[in-house]
Amino acid sequence: KPRLRFAPSPTGKIHIGNIRTALFNWLYARNINGEFIIRVEDTDAARSVEEYEQIIFDALKWLGLGWDEGPQTGGDYGPYRQSERKDIYREYADKLLESGDAYYCYCSEEDLEKMREEQKSRGEMPRYDGRCAELTEEERQRCENEGRTPVIRFKVPKGKDIQVCDLVKGNVNFESDGIGDFIIIKSDGLPSYNFACAIDDYLMDITHVLRGEDHLSNTPRQVMVYNALGFDLPYFGHLSLILGHDKAKLSKRHGDTFIGDYQEKGYLPEAIMNFLALLGWSPEGEEELFAKEQLVEKFDINRVAKSAAVFDVSKLNWMNSHYIKNTEGERLLELSKKYLLESNVVDEQDEIEANKDWYISALNLVKEKVYILSEIPEQMKIFEGDTLKLEDKELQVLSGDNVVELLKTVKDKLLELESFDPKSIKKTINEAGKLVGVKGKQLFMPVRVAVSGQTHGPEIDQLISLLGRNKIEKRIDSVIE
Ligand code: GLU
Repeated sequence: KPRLRFAPSPTGKIHIGNIRTALFNWLYARNINGEFIIRVEDTDAARSVEEYEQIIFDALKWLGLGWDEGPQTGGDYGPYRQSERKDIYREYADKLLESGDAYYCYCSEEDLEKMREEQKSRGEMPRYDGRCAELTEEERQRCENEGRTPVIRFKVPKGKDIQVCDLVKGNVNFESDGIGDFIIIKSDGLPSYNFACAIDDYLMDITHVLRGEDHLSNTPRQVMVYNALGFDLPYFGHLSLILGHDKAKLSKRHGDTFIGDYQEKGYLPEAIMNFLALLGWSPEGEEELFAKEQLVEKFDINRVAKSAAVFDVSKLNWMNSHYIKNTEGERLLELSKKYLLESNVVDEQDEIEANKDWYISALNLVKEKVYILSEIPEQMKIFEGDTLKLEDKELQVLSGDNVVELLKTVKDKLLELESFDPKSIKKTINEAGKLVGVKGKQLFMPVRVAVSGQTHGPEIDQLISLLGRNKIEKRIDSVIE
């Protein structure tokens, strides 16, 4: 059975690019009927923070990316936190020490610095020169006695050509001579990323390693570890970078890079998922709006782009407005509540509960005008106030012939209405228009301005119905007096 993993490091609030990586792994796993596993790579003890780990889980849950195995979920291949697998890495490091594929290195930071300087001055690429590989047992003992704490380095074979068949990039070749002997166990006893990753991907039976392009140069190191231990290789696939509008790597400079900030602003998870899925992948055809199930069904690793993807916020906004328009009823209310309360459109939760139907209808009306949910309170202002303040443009509309007569007629007829529903309201406005002898824009524009104070806005009959008799009477009176 295919097994794919997402292996985040909880060293900061998870970057939207990492979420894209998680999504592609999830889509691919679900598409090929595989398992999706979360492995927390927290071997950087100084920088790993539990809170950041929780943020990762919360983000995945919010997006609806369920996983089959992971730190809190458990599974047959645990533990799923690298910090809890120290002994496992040590065991494999010992194997490599024994076979001569790894060695202890006692070089201090100063020694390394000096080496790098010398290499640079000779015009060479700075890399570890392998000097500790040659230590005799006596020399090694002397270092130990001096109290030096060693690291363990992998002994990179000389003159090897390392081929990586990448699912996205195609064949990529690396020369082992370009790679210095790299650390596999750090002086604190914890494994380096490249070592832990290779060991875990093997032990967890990972079949496909899909990750960001920034890890492509790590792959030959991991492949060498696999080879030295006699492990079969998984498939590798490296996803191209995400760029900002200026074609530089997406960073804070371009706007929010933390998914929680998007959630906070009122982006819907289905919009984020749809948008991120198309960052570096596209199905056949022109269509761009896809529900989760469709994405799973259509995902195809062969259509993942080799070139970088550009993060286009206006496209995200467009998608989000689409998904907001498709949201209604209780869910729309649930999602909007927070923004209504925060902005003091409503003071109390109870007020919403007591007028639930009204709020649901009002939100249904104003949702047409927003890109993100946090824009809803601004739109809800249309329902506030008994009198209206008009600007020149609106006053102009009301200065036309017959307008006062029209508005009076509309008001009187509306107040007579038995049922204040949009359909009856529309009919009534048309009747008033007939009586006064106006129609079309001449009819609806003055009415719109008189009830909302604006020349643009939501459906007029619905708006009037939601404003109610009382407000309609007061608003119309306030503009015709
Ligand atoms: N912990 C690494 C990261 O967050 C994982 C890379 C990988 O998937 O191998 O970038």
